[in-house]
Amino acid sequence: MAVPKRRTSKTKKNMRRTHYKLQVPGMTTCENCGEMKLAHRICKSCGQYKGKVVVGE
Ligand SMILES: [Zn+2]
Repeated sequence: MAVPKRRTSKTKKNMRRTHYKLQVPGMTTCENCGEMKLAHRICKSCGQYKGKVVVGE
């Protein structure tokens, strides 16, 4: 079995991981207020979902 000759350096390891997502997947911005919200969920700050007020005013 092939075995790595050298241990992967911190730099190389981190360079490989630059593509790792910083944000939780499924987060989108609200079309109404622009706040971050979970996809397919109502916006917490304005209470809207698909252009309609669902929670309060
Ligand atoms: Zn909103």
